[in-house]
Amino acid sequence: MNPWIAYIVGPVPLKVMTLFIFCLLVTSSGNCYSYRGNEEDVKSSSKTMLVEADKLFDKKQYQEAIELLLEIETRTKESEPGYYMKSLLKLANCYRNTSNYTRALDYFFRLIEAEQTVEADTLTVKAFVGIAGIFSTLGNYDQAHDYFLKAILKQEEAEDMEGLKNSYYNLGHMFFYFKKSYQEALTYFKKAAAIEIPGQEGYLSFVMIAALGPTYEKIGDLEAALTYNEEAYDIASRLSEDEGRDMALGYALQNLGTTSLEKSELEKAKSNLISSIEYFQVAKHETGKVISLNYLGEVYIRTGELRKAIDAFNSSLELSLKKRIKHQELISLNGLAEAYELSGKHQAAVEFLKKGRSLKDSLESAETLEQLSNRKAEFQLIRKERELDGIRREKELVEKNLVLRKKMDWIYMGLLFVAAIFFTYFVYSFRRQIRSNRLLAEKNAEIGRQKNVLEDQNAQIELQNQKLEHANSELTQFAYVASHDLKEPLRTISSFSKLIKDRYEDQFDSFASESFGFIISAVDRMKMLLDDLLAYSRIDRQEAELDSLNTGLVLNDVISNLTGKTREVNATIDVNFENMPVVKGIRTHFTQLFQNIISNGIKFKKEGVDPLVVIDCQEEEKYMKFSIKDNGIGIPEEAKNKIFEMFTRLNNKHRYTGTGIGLATCKKIVDFYKGHIWVESAEGEGSTFFIKLPKNGSPSSN
Ligand code: ADP
Repeated sequence: MNPWIAYIVGPVPLKVMTLFIFCLLVTSSGNCYSYRGNEEDVKSSSKTMLVEADKLFDKKQYQEAIELLLEIETRTKESEPGYYMKSLLKLANCYRNTSNYTRALDYFFRLIEAEQTVEADTLTVKAFVGIAGIFSTLGNYDQAHDYFLKAILKQEEAEDMEGLKNSYYNLGHMFFYFKKSYQEALTYFKKAAAIEIPGQEGYLSFVMIAALGPTYEKIGDLEAALTYNEEAYDIASRLSEDEGRDMALGYALQNLGTTSLEKSELEKAKSNLISSIEYFQVAKHETGKVISLNYLGEVYIRTGELRKAIDAFNSSLELSLKKRIKHQELISLNGLAEAYELSGKHQAAVEFLKKGRSLKDSLESAETLEQLSNRKAEFQLIRKERELDGIRREKELVEKNLVLRKKMDWIYMGLLFVAAIFFTYFVYSFRRQIRSNRLLAEKNAEIGRQKNVLEDQNAQIELQNQKLEHANSELTQFAYVASHDLKEPLRTISSFSKLIKDRYEDQFDSFASESFGFIISAVDRMKMLLDDLLAYSRIDRQEAELDSLNTGLVLNDVISNLTGKTREVNATIDVNFENMPVVKGIRTHFTQLFQNIISNGIKFKKEGVDPLVVIDCQEEEKYMKFSIKDNGIGIPEEAKNKIFEMFTRLNNKHRYTGTGIGLATCKKIVDFYKGHIWVESAEGEGSTFFIKLPKNGSPSSN
C-alpha cells in the first residue's frame, strides 16, 4: 500500500504525531520577500534573509522561500559556512514539503558534505532524519531505517534527548504504517516513550503514549492497548486548551473507541467515538472527525443501526471530498454500499459500490503512477547515494593517505633517526678504529723497535756469550797451558832449591837458611795451585769413556789417599758403604769430588774436636743424593753459594791451607753430570755437603 494511503487510514494519534514531527523539522523557515539588503554586510543580511525565509516556510509559501534561500546559498557559500549550511537545510525542507524529493535529498547530502569539510555535524543529524523521512516516504524502508539509525548514533553522541525521542518515534511510525512490523514499531515507540524530557510534558508526551495503544491493538494485546489508551486519555485531559487538549482528547477517545470495537464492546465504542467527534468538532480538526465518523459508521452497522450508519458515512464522505482524503472517501463509499445493502436498498448499494470501484481504480492508478515516480526518484537517490559514497570513499582514501603519509613520515623519521644513530656510531667506530689502528700501529712500531732493540740486545748477548765462551775457553786453555807448562820450571826451581839446601845447608847463615825456607814453601804453594788449576781445567777436556763406577770403591781409594791427613788430626771417615751406588762416570772426577769435600771436612775442624766425616747416599726417584757431613767449623749462611766460586777462601789463610779452587772444581764436575751441589750448615756446628746426580744423566757436552 502507498505510504500516504497507509498514513491516512492509520491510527489517529500517529498521524497527529507525524504532522507534529514534521512541524518540528520545518519550523525554522521564513518569509518570501526578495531581499535587498546591504551586500557589504553579508553576515547580518544573511541572518535577516534566513528569518524571512523561515516566515515564508511557516506560511507554506515554499516556492518564495526557495528563491530567497537560493540567494542566501550563493551569497554565503564562500564566506559564511554557518549560514550557508542553514540555507542548505531549509532548502532541503522546502523541496521535501513540495514533494521534490530528489532535490530535497540533493540538499541534505550537500549539507552533510559541507559539514564534513568544516568538521561539524550539528546539522548533519537533521539531514539524516530528513533523508530517512524521504526514503520512508518513497518506500525504501531499509535505507530509511539506516539513516534513522545514523541520526540516532549522532543524537546519542550529542546526548540530544529530544532528537533521540523524535527519531525513535519516527522509526516506530515507519514500522507501524509502512512495514506493518508492529513488534518492531512497539520497540521503537517504547524507546521514544521511555525518554523523559524535563519541562516537556504536554502534547509530545501524549503522542508518545498514544502511539502505544494502537500498536498493542495490532499485536492483539487488547488489555495493554486499553491501558495505554486510558493513560493517553488521562494525559490529554490534563492538557490545556492551548496545548491542543481538544484534538488530543479527540484522538484518545477515537483510540478507545476502536479498541472497544475490537473487543466488541459496541456501546462503549459508540459513546467514545461520538465524544471523539465532538472534541474534533471543537478543535476544528476535520481529518480526525472524518476518521471517527467512518469508525462510528462501522459500529452502527454492527449494532444494526443502519440509518445512523448511513448518516455517519455520509457525513464522513462529505468531509473527505472537501479535504480530499481519498482513502477515507473510499471507506465511506464502501460503508454506504454495505449499509444500503443491509437495508435492502440494492440499487443505492450498487451505485455506491460503482463509485467505490471507480475511486479505488483511480487510487490504484494514482498509486501506480506514484510508485513509478518513486522508482524514478529511488533510482536518482541510489545514484546520488553512490556519488556521495564515492566522495566519502575518496575523502576516506585521502584521509587514509594522509594517515599513511603521516605514518610513513614517522617511519621515515624513525629510519632517519636510526640511520643517523648508525651513521654516528659508524663514524664514531670508524674514528675509534682509525685511532686504535694508529695506536696499534704505533704500538707495533714500538714493539718492532723494542723487538729490534731486543734482537740487537740478544745478538749482543749472543755475541757476548760467544765472547765469554771464547774467553772462558781461552781462560781454561790458558789455565791448563799455564798450570801444565809452569809445572816444569817450577819443578826445576823446587828440585834445584832442595838440592842447594841439602848440599850447602850447613854453610848457610840464618838469613840464607830462612830465605831458602820461604822459597821452598812458595814453590810448594805454587805447585799446589798449579795442580788444582790443572785439575779444574782438565774436567771438561777429558774425553774418556764413562765407566760404571762403584762409588764405595772410589771412596775407599779417597780414604786411602787421605790416610796421612786423617792420622795427623785423628780424624774419622765413616762411609755407609751399603748405600753407595754404582754410577756411570769418570773415575778421576769422582775421586776429585769426594776427596776435595772430605779433605775440607777434616781441614776445617773445630779446635780440640777430632774430625768426623760421615758419608751416605739416598736413592731418590730420579737422583742419587750423596751427603758428606762433618763436625767442623761450619759455614756462614751468607757464604753458602760463594764458596763454590773460584779462589774463595773464607778463613785465615795461614791457619787453613788451600787455594780456593777445590769446591769450584767440585761444582764443575757436578755440572758436567747435570747434577746439583749445595751445602747446609750453621756456623760452628759442622757442614753437610749434598750432591745430587741424575740416575740416567749423561755428561754435559761442554
Ligand atoms: P780451599 O779448601 O783450598 O781453601 P776450597 O774451594 O776447597 O778451597 O774451599 C773454599 C773455602 O770454603 C775454604 O777456604 C773454606 O773457607 C770453606 N770451606 C770449604 N769446606 C769447608 C768445611 N768443610 N768446613 C768449613 N769451611 C769450609
